[in-house]
Amino acid sequence: MDNRISKKRIVVAGGGFAGLNFVKHIDKKLYDVTIIDRNNYHSFPPLFYQVASAGLQPDSICFPFRREVSRGKAKGSSFHIGEVKKIDASSGKVITEYEEIDYDILVLAMGSTNNFFGNDKLVDTVYTLKSAAQAMRCRDEILDRLERASIEKDAEKRRQMLTFTVVGGGPAGVEIAGALGEMKSYILKRNYPELCENEVTIRLIEGSGMLLSAMGEKAHNKALQYLAELKVAVSLNTILKNIDGETASLGDGSTLYAGMVIWTAGVKGHDVAIEGAEVTVGKGNRIVTDEYCQVPGTDDRPIYAIGDLGLMTTEGYPHGHPQLAQVAIQQGRMVARNLSRDPANRVKFKYRNKGSMATVGRNRAVAFIGRMCYTGFIAWLMWMGVHLLSLLGMRNKASVFIDWVWGYFTYGTSLRLLLYPARHPLAWKWGEK
Ligand SMILES: Cc1cc2nc3c(=O)[nH]c(=O)nc-3n(C[C@H](O)[C@H](O)[C@H](O)COP(=O)(O)OP(=O)(O)OC[C@H]3O[C@@H](n4cnc5c(N)ncnc54)[C@H](O)[C@@H]3O)c2cc1C
Repeated sequence: MDNRISKKRIVVAGGGFAGLNFVKHIDKKLYDVTIIDRNNYHSFPPLFYQVASAGLQPDSICFPFRREVSRGKAKGSSFHIGEVKKIDASSGKVITEYEEIDYDILVLAMGSTNNFFGNDKLVDTVYTLKSAAQAMRCRDEILDRLERASIEKDAEKRRQMLTFTVVGGGPAGVEIAGALGEMKSYILKRNYPELCENEVTIRLIEGSGMLLSAMGEKAHNKALQYLAELKVAVSLNTILKNIDGETASLGDGSTLYAGMVIWTAGVKGHDVAIEGAEVTVGKGNRIVTDEYCQVPGTDDRPIYAIGDLGLMTTEGYPHGHPQLAQVAIQQGRMVARNLSRDPANRVKFKYRNKGSMATVGRNRAVAFIGRMCYTGFIAWLMWMGVHLLSLLGMRNKASVFIDWVWGYFTYGTSLRLLLYPARHPLAWKWGEK
């Protein structure tokens, strides 16, 4: 007898940290598991900023699903490419642009996207870092500006081309601003001798009074110090309201030149169109769940929302858990283990905070592990170790390690190639806004 007939079908929408960890830990003897993702690879967002600043190649931080489902812990599951467009909860179907897939249990793990706080005009103006494709678009624009400025005779135009504005002082904003500061301070004179450091302006704009606010006062002070050392101008309590052409207007009514703006100021849960179930969408466009990550009222065909997309409020986290990789990983594992054991023994989600860290250029980082705070070179080594270990696959670990060591000693140009994928006539097929 084909035992697939008796197995329940689980569809996992999104193969990021949450979805992939779910797939790795669910008992494939009990369930038929299908993972759907709009990309055919899993990616590692904490290092997108390194792709954007030409420190790493995109394929070093992306990992093909086909390999994941053919060996290791995810073996036995299957992968379908497709963008989830709609869920029909009454008939138990996930609908993508290519097909409809039936499910008995649905795991929503599509993560989050950029939040422009209602100013959707920004979508067409700013550069973002929410996917490998977006990071590559950002990298190409930075490199293109450096090359064009190198041959520009008009000093004012050169200055404009070399003005970079980062919006958002969370880890992503601080890290990309630090990488640009590094480029200004060390790379420019080696690789672009036609340009002068003083012609480059790097600004970091943050709406609140703190950088790295989730990590506290000490991290804020260190980030300020490190960015100052890298000649990044930081404006706190400053809100970017709008961009008209190449002029940005700020909350206090002033304006500034902003040819290239990198937006890291906010995230919100991906929109999910669900019919046939009462789903509550809460703060940050996240789907409200109970403490098992299940969407309330979906007992016949359970729907779970995990990772950045899910919103579980608990006593310790009254506004939901932070949108971090560790939360996504732990939720994916917890839901998989609950579904693989006797329902009477299932456990509620309890987040174990393993620490947080951010880096600001080379040799500079802040790391909080338990009650200890590390800064400077030691924190930077810890940051590199944690990120290397967290990457999937030996090839990726080795290639990132080699690129880091090579870049550290040579400030090499090997990754600063302008391949212009966006100029290809079929770019709309690959890129995303
Ligand atoms: C630039 C940046 C830096 C970050 N740095 C850190 C850090 O240093 N430390 C940390 O802990 N966290 C960091 N984060 C946050 C962390 O990456 C997220 O919390 C984590 O990725 C959430 O995991 P997830 O599985 O919920 O979503 P994701 O990892 O985003 O995965 C979502 C998956 O769903 C797929 N998908 C999305 N929409 C659809 C659709 N409609 N149909 C099909 N597939 C879809 C995507 O392709 C993706 O594979 C960073 C995030 C960014 C963007």
